[in-house]
Amino acid sequence: MEHIPYKAYALSNFRQIPQLACLTEEQLFDIQVVGSVLPFKTNSYVIEQLIDWDRVPDDPIFRLTFPQRGMLRPEHFDDVAAHIRAGTDAAGLKPALQRIRMQLNPHPAGQMAHNIPSLDGEPLDGMQHKYRETVLFFPSQGQTCHAYCTFCFRWPQFVGMNDLKFASKEVDTLIRYLTVHPEVSDVLITGGDPMIMSAKHLAAYVGPLLEADLPNLRHIRIGTKALTFWPYRFIDDADSTAILDLFRRVARSGRHLALMAHFNHPQEMRTPALAQAVANIRETGAVIRTQSPLLANINDDPMAWARMWDKQVDLGMVPYYMFVARDTGAQHYFAVPLVRAQEIFREAYQRVSGLGRTVRGPSMSAGPGKVQMLGVSEVRGEKVMTLRFLQGRDPDWVHRPFFAAYDPDAAWLDDLRPAFGEKEFFFEPGLRHRYAGPRNAEQDEPVEAW
Ligand SMILES: *Cc1c(COP(=O)(O)O)cnc(C)c1O
Ligand code: SF4
Repeated sequence: MEHIPYKAYALSNFRQIPQLACLTEEQLFDIQVVGSVLPFKTNSYVIEQLIDWDRVPDDPIFRLTFPQRGMLRPEHFDDVAAHIRAGTDAAGLKPALQRIRMQLNPHPAGQMAHNIPSLDGEPLDGMQHKYRETVLFFPSQGQTCHAYCTFCFRWPQFVGMNDLKFASKEVDTLIRYLTVHPEVSDVLITGGDPMIMSAKHLAAYVGPLLEADLPNLRHIRIGTKALTFWPYRFIDDADSTAILDLFRRVARSGRHLALMAHFNHPQEMRTPALAQAVANIRETGAVIRTQSPLLANINDDPMAWARMWDKQVDLGMVPYYMFVARDTGAQHYFAVPLVRAQEIFREAYQRVSGLGRTVRGPSMSAGPGKVQMLGVSEVRGEKVMTLRFLQGRDPDWVHRPFFAAYDPDAAWLDDLRPAFGEKEFFFEPGLRHRYAGPRNAEQDEPVEAW
């Protein structure tokens, strides 16, 4: 198998990518404009192995990593384009970019406080604890990726808005927290992409967790996109062996290592490098579970999902979640209404065998919890949408069906209204009780697991 040397491309050097010769000057300028606002970074593997250049600019992997004009609202696009045409330098451009980004991210920083746990009265930066069993941990060394997805809602972590950055060097703090929270069985190490870290750095986090030998900590999960953005991480990078040895160590400690792998399209699964990486990881005893957001213009097609789940099962991975695109960033470009999302899920689900039907979705990671859109029904003459929690801030909300008035355009929980003329959803009094404040202001947080 050919190992491509890693080379990253961003705004400063993307015009050197030879394959981009197929684009017009105007298309290159669009990338420059949109890439100034949204995250933009790609690499040699994505360019040489994943993108089908005969299909550019419509290729899904091209749209996944190269910013597209439609991702910015026209007024934002024109604003930035005017600055760039006028030759404004980076410092001069900054205030305009900052202003636009704040409009794209509807989450004032103060709201992040809801999921930050505390210990002895001190807030623990770099951690989130929202669902009883699972703590999210954001190692400070893992807050970037091998390439960036254009839809990423974690972009405030990458583009220098440091006050929005979660980070922690404090694995000791994590261990102390786990010690006093015996209800937590899972630590989910996330980012960015923790697999951007060297084996040494990753071991500096995972090693002490194992050595602490906490009886409650049974599952260690690592969220990653490296399987599709840089599979060589698990094959023949300089420290790949050490990475795989670390995975083995987790299994030998009697704990379950779950790699939560992020996929977007079946095209990401056709390279020999991907198959080899998956085989190497599975050989350590780790289990790979897959999660994917549903994205207009990239994968809003049941056949793409059926092929993705089938191929994952073929390779020994376990389909886990289909997510609804979050209400942030370029959501107008990527959003799929909930009713349509459920149709895509159902059509794909019907096409795969039971082994692929471990997947759940489509699910919104909203403020009150992970909410699954189950389908459209008619109850006593009223057309309704049936939903349920897969995860809830209050564990008692989970798996109780509830109903929203039918709305084929609704794309997020906030867009929905209760069915049957009721004033509020069943969970709202409890949510108010937990967090005083108006309904919509409290529901979302900018950073959380897919
Ligand atoms: C999705 C998520 C988890 C993990 O949920 P599972 O259903 O156990 O996979 C944990 N914490 C947060 C904040 C999440 O969004
Ligand atoms: S954090 Fe995940 S979604 Fe965001 S750019 Fe990295 S791989 Fe893509």
